[in-house]
Amino acid sequence: MNRLKIKNLQKTYKNGVTATNNISLDITNGMFGLLGPNGAGKSSLMKTIAGLQSPDSGSILFNNVDIIKDPSFIKRQLGFLPQDFGVYPKINATDLLNHIAILKGLTNKNERKEQVNILLEKVNLTSHRNKEVHTFSGGMRQRFGIAQALLGNPQLIIVDEPTAGLDPEERNRFNNLLNEIGEDIIIILSTHLVEDVKNLCTQMAIIEKGTVLAQGKPNDFIEVL
Ligand code: ADP
Ligand code: ADP
Repeated sequence: MNRLKIKNLQKTYKNGVTATNNISLDITNGMFGLLGPNGAGKSSLMKTIAGLQSPDSGSILFNNVDIIKDPSFIKRQLGFLPQDFGVYPKINATDLLNHIAILKGLTNKNERKEQVNILLEKVNLTSHRNKEVHTFSGGMRQRFGIAQALLGNPQLIIVDEPTAGLDPEERNRFNNLLNEIGEDIIIILSTHLVEDVKNLCTQMAIIEKGTVLAQGKPNDFIEVL
């Protein structure tokens, strides 16, 4: 069983905005929903967990390892699907995954090849393996992002508003994929969609203005949601 323990996380940006205000969370295997409106501090929290920015104070323990002090741990154990992926290089999906696998430290060529193929199959993109990712639809890009996040078999995956901009069919498809992979690892799903949290998550927290208002099971919140 994996365990992510966030304690008293504090982050104020240089412009004076406090994005995470004394946040503490205790998360175990399964899908964890981080629910909050735009500007609540979800992305800031995710980026901090992913090691992309450092907090002013507080600690993040993953399986008892302080990941703020040991960022190499994050590289090996964490998959991050950011909200905005930016620009894709002009190479096909297979080659791109392969390059990212190298960056993640998967040194064995045959193992890498095998994993890339398995992941493309898992996210249902095998038929598009030789196409460039920038030609993909939004839903395909997000599924590609999941394949990318799963490289190296991380125990913790963070997905930030993954279904924003997807049509209902692609959103369903994406959510089913999350459901499949979310049994033995921790998936943190950041969203402002109550429905997604209700349908997918076993645990959740409500975040507003940088503060966690409550943490529990979605059922505990049935009256508020
Ligand atoms: P950090 O404290 O993590 O180094 P900074 O406070 O230096 O981050 O912010 C980096 C830059 O990004 C700043 O110029 C900031 O104004 C800008 N920035 C990025 N996103 C936002 C946002 N959503 N709202 C306001 N400023 C932003
Ligand atoms: P959410 O993901 O829930 O929409 P964010 O973490 O993006 O929330 O933003 C929380 C608050 O921090 C917002 O007020 C936002 O404008 C501000 N913010 C985000 N990034 C930066 C930054 N780099 N510099 C300054 N302010 C930021």
